[in-house]
This record gives sequence, C-alpha cells and structure tokens, in this order.
Amino acid sequence: MTRPKIVAVDGPAGSGKSSICATVCRDLNWSYVNTGALYRAVGLLAGDRGVSLVEGPALSKILHEFADTVRWEHETAKLFVGVEDFTPRLDSVEAGNGASAVAKMASVREALMPHQRKLSLSAPRGAIVDGRDIGTVIFPDADLKIFMTASLEQRAMRRLKQIEKIGGASDFSHDDIMRAIALRDEQDSQRDSAPMRKAEDAILFDTSHMNVEMAIESLKELLRAKGLTK
Ligand code: C5P
Repeated sequence: MTRPKIVAVDGPAGSGKSSICATVCRDLNWSYVNTGALYRAVGLLAGDRGVSLVEGPALSKILHEFADTVRWEHETAKLFVGVEDFTPRLDSVEAGNGASAVAKMASVREALMPHQRKLSLSAPRGAIVDGRDIGTVIFPDADLKIFMTASLEQRAMRRLKQIEKIGGASDFSHDDIMRAIALRDEQDSQRDSAPMRKAEDAILFDTSHMNVEMAIESLKELLRAKGLTK
C-alpha cells in the first residue's frame, strides 16, 4: 500500500499553523491532522474525570480510556472521545493549559505517538500534520517539513482575536496573552521530552508579515514547488 504524502508543520502557538493548514487541506482535499487537539483532549478528559495533571496511575487510566475511545473524522476534522464531540471545547484556554501540562510527560507523548501516526497515515490522499515535534519525532521521514513561526507580538494579536471569536475577550489583555504565549513557548522548547525545535531539514516559514490569504497561497506554492501537488 502506498503511503499518503505527509507534510510536517511544527511551530509555536499563534504562528498560524492551524488556520493556514486547515484551509490548504480543504482546498486540496487533503487531511488536516492537528496533533495539539489530542493533547488538548487528554487534558480535558482528565478534567472531566476529576484527575489531576500529574504522572501516576489515575492519569494512565485516562490515557487508556482515551486510546480506546478516541475517534477522528477526517472529513469534518472532528475529534470524538467515546460518543462525545470534544471539538467545540478544544480552543478554550483551559484546554490549551491542560495540553501544555500533559505534553511535558514522556508517558503521554509516548501514548499519543501511535495515534498521531495512524491518523495521519489513514488519510485517503495527503496529510498536513501540525504540532511541535512532527518533523523531529513523529515523522522524521516526512515528504516536506516546515517550521512555521511569527513574532510574539503578532501571535498574541492573533490569539486575542481567536479568543474574542469564542466570546472570552474581556478577561484578557494583549499583554496577558503575550506573557502566556511566551511562557508556553518556553515550556514547549525547554522540556526534556521532545522539545519544540526546528528540524534541520525543515523550511522556515515566517508569517509575521503575511495575512492568512497570503500564507495559504505561499504554502500551496511550496507544496507545488516540492512536487507534492500539481
Ligand atoms: O498546537 P496547540 O496550541 O493546540 O497545542 C497545545 C499544546 O500541546 C502545545 O502548547 C504543546 O505544549 C502541546 N503539543 C505538543 N506536541 C504536539 C502538539 C501540541 O507538545 N505535537
């Protein structure tokens, strides 16, 4: 069986990975695999079950429950745990903080690794897989690796707009968000287990001075130039 084309996109929060990759996939009829959603869902599931985010038997049980019942729909990009659609809760601040906490744990990263590979490899055509360690750990043999980034200032601005969209703006200022993102960057890049870093053979894709439409066109052009699409 031939493997679908895999494009690994890593980078910090707010670099535009999810909106850009999701649109490019929709336009190309490829699958978009947002691996952050898996970490977010594990954090949420633990919260739902009243389990604290520290390594131990209770969290292991959550990982087993998650592994046995998680389901991803490529067509709608929805994530289910059992019968519950977790997608509407994945963008919340609570989910982001939970994700960052569980993502530090080697046991969690190990448990989620086969899901990330399986989900991506089950894509009927190609898949763009976004995360922090896709080009370095999950798919070191990806057909194309991209490290997407943007200035801290821009990333905070985008995150603020995203929070406004889901109705939480009044609680956070631009400065609050900038501090939170800087902290998240530090946690993601300093952790021992699979820290976020640019793979040596990844292309640096800086979206600081691009609007979403420009970034989408530019990513499509890159895929064409690499011979992955026509
Ligand atoms: O990409 P997103 O913001 O949804 O990721 C949430 C958190 O999950 C990140 O800050 C990071 O700590 C973690 N993550 C990770 N590895 C991935 C995807 C996400 O460590 N492949």
